[in-house]
Amino acid sequence: MTNDWAALGYLAAAILFILGLKRLSRPRTAVRGNQYGAAGMLVAVLVTLTDNSIIGFGWIIGGVILGAAVGVLLALRVQMTAMPELVALFNGFGGGASVLVAAASYTQAVDLAGDTSRLSSSAALASLIGAVTFTGSLVAFAKLREALRWSGFRGITVLSALGAVAAVVLGVLMVVDAQNALWLWLLVGVGAVLGLLVVLPIGGADMPVVIALLNSLSGMAAVAAGFVLDNSLLIIAGSLVGASGLILTQIMCVAMNRTLLAVMFSPAPTGTGGNDVDDIYAGKVRSTSPDDVAMLLESAERVAIVPGYGLAVAQAQHAVRDLMRRLQDRGVEVVFGIHPVAGRMPGHMNVLLAEAEVAYERLVEMDDINPTFEQTDVTIVIGANDVVNPVARTDPSSPIAGMPILDVDKSDVVVVIKRSLSPGFAKIANPLFAADNALMLFGDGREAVVEITKSLQSL
Ligand code: NDP
Repeated sequence: MTNDWAALGYLAAAILFILGLKRLSRPRTAVRGNQYGAAGMLVAVLVTLTDNSIIGFGWIIGGVILGAAVGVLLALRVQMTAMPELVALFNGFGGGASVLVAAASYTQAVDLAGDTSRLSSSAALASLIGAVTFTGSLVAFAKLREALRWSGFRGITVLSALGAVAAVVLGVLMVVDAQNALWLWLLVGVGAVLGLLVVLPIGGADMPVVIALLNSLSGMAAVAAGFVLDNSLLIIAGSLVGASGLILTQIMCVAMNRTLLAVMFSPAPTGTGGNDVDDIYAGKVRSTSPDDVAMLLESAERVAIVPGYGLAVAQAQHAVRDLMRRLQDRGVEVVFGIHPVAGRMPGHMNVLLAEAEVAYERLVEMDDINPTFEQTDVTIVIGANDVVNPVARTDPSSPIAGMPILDVDKSDVVVVIKRSLSPGFAKIANPLFAADNALMLFGDGREAVVEITKSLQSL
C-alpha cells in the first residue's frame, strides 16, 4: 500500500474513533459508539499490516493469536464486578506496550549507529510515562481487588519527588548523550519505581482520581510512542485517550473536592477516621423487613434510590428497575441518586442502570439531588456505603474527609440494604446506619429488592 493510501486509511480510522467517542458520551448511542471504535481499530490494524517495512508476519500472527485468545478468555470469564480491575490492568498494559515499542525502536537506532537525536526526546517520554503507568496500574489493580492495603511508609512523597528529579535528569541525558541506550533503561527503571511510589499512598476517596489519571497517562505514553514510530494514527488515538482521561480526572477531582496535586502529593488519611464501631452502632441500629419497607413505600409520594458498589456485587440492577416500575404504577415519583464515585469505576452505576434500561432522565447527579432529599419520603440505599457516609462532612481525620456525599440522611426515612454492618472501600464505620431515621434491611441487594417488590404487589 502506498503511503498516501495508508494515510487515508489512518484518517478514516481516526474519524471513526472520534465519532465513536462522541457517541460514547450518551447511554443511548454508546453501543453504536463502541462499534465505531471497533471498526476504526480494525481499519487501523489492517492498514498497519500493509506497511512495507514489515519483513515477516510470523511474530505478528503469533502475537495476534495469543493476544486474541487471552482477550476472549478474559472477556468471557471476568465477573462484572471485576471490570474496574480489568480496566486498570488494561491501562497498565497500554503503558507497558508503549515502553516496549519505544525501547525497541530506540535501541535499534542506537545499534545501527543511526541518528537517535530525533527519537530520543519522544522515546524518553514514552519510556517514562509508560513505565509509571505500568507499575502504577498494577498497584491500582491490587488496591481495587482489596488485595493491597499498604499505603507505603513515612517520607514516600519525598522519595517520589527525588524520583521525579532523577527522571528529568535521565531524560535530559538521553537527549544530550543520544548514542547511549543505558540512559533509556535507567529511565524505565526509575519510571517503574516512581509508578509504585506515587500510587501506593493513594487510597480511599482518591482512588477514582488515580484510575482516571492512569487512563490518561496510558494515552499520553501512546502519543509519545506514536512520535517514536512516526505513526500519525497512534498519535491521534493516544491524544484522544489522554485528553478524555484528563477530562475524567478533572471531573473526579471536582467530585472529590480535591486538587490533582493534593491527591498525588498529600494523600487523604488512610486510618479509620477514629470512629469506634461499638460506640457508633451499639444499641442504635434498627433492622427492618421487606414487608415493612413495602408498607413504607406504599404511602410514599417521592422515593429516591441510591445505588452503590453492592448493587454491582448483587447484580440487582434489573430487580431495582422492576421495583421502580411497580412504584411508578402506583403513582410514586422515583429518582436515582448517582454519586460520581459510587462503585469501583467512573460511571459504574450509570452503566449498570443503563443495562437494565432505567431511563437516563431518572438518574439525578449528586449536586442536583442533594437539595431534594429533604422533600423525599423514603430513600433506599442499595449497597452504597462510603458515598452516603456523613463522616465525610464531620470528621477531618477520616479517609473520605471533605468528599461531597449524597445527603440521604436528610430524607424522612432511609432504608439501607446491605448484608451486614461491614464497611465499604474506605474501611470506616458509617453513623448513617445508626441514625434515628435509618432502617437496616440486612441481606443480599437483589434478593431484598425482589422481596420488597413482591410484598408491594400483595398490598
Ligand atoms: P462501598 O465500597 O463504600 O460500599 C459497598 C457496600 O456494598 C459494602 O459496605 C457492602 O456491605 C455492600 N455490599 C456488597 N455486596 C453486597 C450485596 N450482594 N448486596 C448488598 N450489599 C452489598 O461502595 P460505594 O459505592 O458507596 O462507594 C465507592 C467507594 O469505592 C468509594 O470509597 C470510592 O472512593 C471507591 N472507589 C471508587 C472508584 C470509582 O471510580 N467509582 C474507583 C476506586 C475506588 P456488606 O458487605 O455489608 O453487604
